[in-house]
Amino acid sequence: METGKESEKLGLGIDLGTANLLVFLEKKGIIFNEPSVIAFDRESGKVIAAGRDAYKMVGKVHSKISIIKPLKDGGISDLHAAKALLTYVLKKVEDLTEKSLGRSTTVICCPSEVTKIEQDVMIDLAREMNMSDVFIEEEIKAGALGAGVDIFQSKGVMIVDIGGGTTDVGVISFGDIVLSRSIRMAGTYMTNEITKLIKKTRNVEIGELTAERCKIELANLNPNAETVIEKFAGRDMVKGVPKWVDISSEEVRKVLEPVFEEVVKLIAAVLKDTSPELSADIFRNGILVTGGGALTTGIEGFIKERIQVPVTVISNPLTCVAEGLKYLLKNRGDYRVNSMQM
Ligand code: ADP
Ligand code: MG
Repeated sequence: METGKESEKLGLGIDLGTANLLVFLEKKGIIFNEPSVIAFDRESGKVIAAGRDAYKMVGKVHSKISIIKPLKDGGISDLHAAKALLTYVLKKVEDLTEKSLGRSTTVICCPSEVTKIEQDVMIDLAREMNMSDVFIEEEIKAGALGAGVDIFQSKGVMIVDIGGGTTDVGVISFGDIVLSRSIRMAGTYMTNEITKLIKKTRNVEIGELTAERCKIELANLNPNAETVIEKFAGRDMVKGVPKWVDISSEEVRKVLEPVFEEVVKLIAAVLKDTSPELSADIFRNGILVTGGGALTTGIEGFIKERIQVPVTVISNPLTCVAEGLKYLLKNRGDYRVNSMQM
């Protein structure tokens, strides 16, 4: 039950994704939705930029600035940078609310492979910021809630989250994760496949931001779609000079298809281990696809054709975890009983 005192507390939800960091603040909504990137001055160690401003610098700065993505492959790869990024957004919250975070309830969603040690680092950080009431929640659960699924009532829901570092597949029944699995193949891996393709076929190196743009503009998993060709700029690997290359949606599909085939294999493996009763529910409810990778054109048909189960891409794949945290914070009185307090 929520007490009067409890409701006065500031409710804060953090979706610490490998590609994007979102912060939800009660009564204000999503106040931060930017790439999980931070830029430091190498000499002084000072933070120069974070989020979108730091992302714009990727591949473009001199050696005195280091640009770091603290989360990789579903885990924390640079603890110092992860802490600095969290501190940066938490300061932003304090400035916005003109309140200290001491009187707040915070729910954090971490990537699936964040270890206990890394979670402990977050506890330390929370303590340094005077935060006492901090919970860790599973991303799949929050994502399902944010997609509008009443996970506490319904049984047999399958969520496929194609994020930046990992693809996670989970089955939820009556509010708990029954089964989940993850592979380190998702958005970032796909972008790298495009970079490799252009190196191999054109002898041209393209930057990370260009490869990302190429993926978002050209990826289409429908083999019957009309071919689209676009120009992208890179560096000729032999002559070292800038060069334009024409890239077609057809060749992008050919390198992305094997990655999505791995996603399909993961879904099939989880379904194989799901009990017949839950399987029947999933068949009825369909598979829900979320995370940035869910925005790939033609993904519904691609999975459906191979798994023969209805597939739905949710309407808010990039923000559903943060939306789910909103629900959990609103109902924190009931939810606290089941979650892990730190
Ligand atoms: P995370 O939760 O790991 O931070 P997100 O769910 O925010 O990841 O998804 C980020 C990934 O989604 C990135 O790799 C990005 O390239 C990819 N992405 C975003 N928009 C699109 C799109 N329209 N088509 C394909 N991929 C996309
Ligand atoms: Mg995510």
